[in-house]
Amino acid sequence: MAKVDYVYNPKTCRYEPVIINSQILLRRLGRFMGVSFMIGVISLLVFNANYPSVDETLLLSRNEALKGDWNVLYKKLDNAAKELSALEQTDDHNYRVILDLEPLAQSVREAGVGGREKENANIPYRIIKEGYEKAEKLKNRLDIEIQSFEELNKELAYKERMWASRPAIQPLSNEDLTYLHTTYGMRKHPILGYWREHKGLDFTAPKGSPVYATGDGTIEEAHYSDSYGNVVYIDHGFGFETRYAHLVEYIIKKGEKVKRGQIIGYVGNTGLSYSTHLHYEVLFKGDQINPINFFQRDLSNREYEKLVELGGIATTSLD
Ligand SMILES: [Zn+2]
Repeated sequence: MAKVDYVYNPKTCRYEPVIINSQILLRRLGRFMGVSFMIGVISLLVFNANYPSVDETLLLSRNEALKGDWNVLYKKLDNAAKELSALEQTDDHNYRVILDLEPLAQSVREAGVGGREKENANIPYRIIKEGYEKAEKLKNRLDIEIQSFEELNKELAYKERMWASRPAIQPLSNEDLTYLHTTYGMRKHPILGYWREHKGLDFTAPKGSPVYATGDGTIEEAHYSDSYGNVVYIDHGFGFETRYAHLVEYIIKKGEKVKRGQIIGYVGNTGLSYSTHLHYEVLFKGDQINPINFFQRDLSNREYEKLVELGGIATTSLD
């Protein structure tokens, strides 16, 4: 049986049953739904404030993973910067010293570092912004270092050509050499009989002993002259020239390229020569210089000093 509500009517002085019409019913329903809606909204807000959604949970965990990845990247950038610093140090203090180049000025190394702050200002997160700047600085330093290495490579290629070209060995093998006359300077000519400047060294060796180019170069001359006999001139570039005189024969032609150690002819006694020997000259920028300083004979300092001393004593050359 449905519950019936009564209400006191002062006009009739009686309790009368409450008659619920549709208007009252609608009002009550509206009130109920309004309160329910409010409770629902408040509950949802409280829940959302305290408990993230599934999507949010996923995003948060992804965010944490990304932060971890970013920190790893950050450390890798730091390590790369350290390795680059070590490379810059080696470049400045080893490679450039060996190749006679000045170390790169700090201003050059720092050129181009930074300068993109305006673009980076739009990046919202500090950690990402710092990462970008770090990577850009590293890239700029790397660009400078790459340029530096290109310069080192060019210089190395130039120096290699120069070192290969410079007269640096003895023109005769020690096995064939009988005697080295260190006769550079004023000497009495054995045939002409008077004193004149002897601008080379005389190497005594059996006739036919091979004569070697003492550095890479191009045959400038290969001909016979009354004084030098069969003679070969080699242009080594970089200001250097060598001459090999009194050969029994030469086996190269004018204009030919030769390498250090290549046989160019054989020892003889042609031209104005007293006995079988090789007359060897080294010229720098057109002037003869003492060839003794342009080859190694495995001598100790003492032996070398003795040789130079003997060269000063000898009064007669072989040509
Ligand atoms: Zn000579």
